[in-house]
Amino acid sequence: MQRYDVVVAGLGPVGAVLALRLTAAGMSVLVVERSSSVYPLPRAIAADDEVQELLDRTVPGVLAPMLHHREVRFVSGARELGRILFPSSARGYCGLAFFHQPSLEASLRQALTCPVRLGTEVTGLEQDASGVTVRLGSSERVRASWLVGCDGAGSAVRRLTGIAWHGRDLAQRWLVVDTVGSFHDGFTYTCDPAMPSVDMPMPGGHRWEFLLRPGAVAPVVPLEVVRSVEYRFGARRAASWANGRVLLAGDAAHTMPPFAGQGLGAGIRDAWALGALLPAGRVAEYQRLRAPHVREMTRLSLLVGAVLQAQHGSAVRDAVLAGAFRAPGLGAWLSRGGPRRPSSGVLELR
Ligand SMILES: Cc1cc2nc3c(=O)[nH]c(=O)nc-3n(C[C@H](O)[C@H](O)[C@H](O)COP(=O)(O)OP(=O)(O)OC[C@H]3O[C@@H](n4cnc5c(N)ncnc54)[C@H](O)[C@@H]3O)c2cc1C
Repeated sequence: MQRYDVVVAGLGPVGAVLALRLTAAGMSVLVVERSSSVYPLPRAIAADDEVQELLDRTVPGVLAPMLHHREVRFVSGARELGRILFPSSARGYCGLAFFHQPSLEASLRQALTCPVRLGTEVTGLEQDASGVTVRLGSSERVRASWLVGCDGAGSAVRRLTGIAWHGRDLAQRWLVVDTVGSFHDGFTYTCDPAMPSVDMPMPGGHRWEFLLRPGAVAPVVPLEVVRSVEYRFGARRAASWANGRVLLAGDAAHTMPPFAGQGLGAGIRDAWALGALLPAGRVAEYQRLRAPHVREMTRLSLLVGAVLQAQHGSAVRDAVLAGAFRAPGLGAWLSRGGPRRPSSGVLELR
């Protein structure tokens, strides 16, 4: 049986960053990915300054194709309710950058030097005090000191380890559409009670996310649709992110709706943290270090989603939000990003 220090299950962005970090720390790593290609449909698009720095430190230059330093506007009808310009970090990373997730994943994959088994599924595991025997496909087995499930929200590793999945899936259905060509420069939350939406630029195109309410009609824009998909978002967390020698990271450990652009960021922070803690034998600190920030960002995502989706009380929402952005002190705080907290503490881990 082949032996490794770590088997990483799942080569999404989180698995890729983790494998790169562990390999750089001198560990032997095998990555196992069920699919034979990068997931092509629209998902993450926005990264805060800490996430940009983590990605840039993992693969220098990977931020180059991103659109940097963009403004966020809340609008309702013709009225602008407020504006946010997230400040840059002390080390010069801008407060908000937009990217194309499949291209980012392809760049991360290109940098990998460890063995990668595409088109191979983790189907079973047995662990003991010294490690984990991982079943791949129908019969092959490999042995590792650690198995990390970076295998997304439907994580097989989480299920096979018997870790409970708390939280809920939200009832609303969202249509996510990517187009080619430029539309406008900034990120807009359109607080329209008939059809709330967000839209933002991305390299080479523009993204829309529409809440599908009965009778809602999407605006007509003169751009070509390249991808579209319907999602129901969730806010969930694994009861435990570690069970013996099996760990969870990214969407396998927690999910949140995308309204604050923090889901992938949380996973990148997990990968960075584990990339330091695993080689140092400090795995016991992992969940304690990461869970508070994930909880905070999940609450923020749900709050932004609730503000955006207010229907019957939308006039009150508009008045309160516009008032808050104009209020002395509070307005300046909100305009710099308010409760979004990019400093999660993981950058201090080398
Ligand atoms: C519409 C939308 C917009 C979003 N916007 C943002 C945003 O702006 N900013 C942000 O930070 N986040 C955003 N997110 C969240 C972000 O996309 C996810 O958090 C992120 O993709 C999760 O990465 P991951 O690597 O943990 O999981 P995934 O990307 O899901 O990767 C998991 C991988 O594991 C593989 N796999 C599954 N099972 C097995 C198995 N048994 N064996 C081997 N491999 C397996 C899968 O094939 C997959 O490649 C958004 C999400 C959506 C849906």
